[in-house]
Amino acid sequence: MDERTLVLIKPDGVRKSISGKIVSRFEDAGLKIIGMKMVYADKELAENHYYLNEEWARNVYEKTKKGYDESGKKFPYKDHLEIGKTIQKWNMEFLMEGPVIAIVFQGPHAIEISRKIIGSTEPRTSPAGTIRGDFASVESYAVADEGKRVLRNLIHASDSTASAKREIALWFSVDELHSNYKTVHELILEK
Ligand code: ADP
Repeated sequence: MDERTLVLIKPDGVRKSISGKIVSRFEDAGLKIIGMKMVYADKELAENHYYLNEEWARNVYEKTKKGYDESGKKFPYKDHLEIGKTIQKWNMEFLMEGPVIAIVFQGPHAIEISRKIIGSTEPRTSPAGTIRGDFASVESYAVADEGKRVLRNLIHASDSTASAKREIALWFSVDELHSNYKTVHELILEK
């Protein structure tokens, strides 16, 4: 039942000095830290992490277009590849702007639970109680767009089993992961 997921506290989260609060949200929900380190990403790592694929670009296109439509603004991108390339470049620049804290969490439904804890991509519409809803300053598609930059939304969490596997292997070697201990949460759930 256990899953593993990659969480990154992005450079804005580290600089805001809320890394401890962020990690607590996951620990409080019962997830177990099995790897954690501070990393200054180079171009290769940033590019591999935010690699451009068709499905991701289509998803970004749909989500962003919805945001523009809702605020009555004209959508400036011609297709998913144009927005995908732009956002990928901005994402890479942002990820390399300062050190990030990379964490691997493990537990039942770790991927789904982590996505719930971080909230939705745009902090403005992310519910209260989520990390992005509670801590990400006043940040929205409209504000990010004006600055021609990516949404500074504090945190990344893998969005599927396949991306978790790929991303964990990018950021951690096998001997940096330690799952051979039991948390209190695990002990409570044992029969
Ligand atoms: P999530 O991080 O919520 O899984 P995505 O995978 O769709 O979101 O996008 C990756 C990151 O790219 C987001 O966290 C955000 O920082 C940035 N991003 C996505 N779409 C936009 C956009 N339209 N404008 C600015 N930044 C964006």
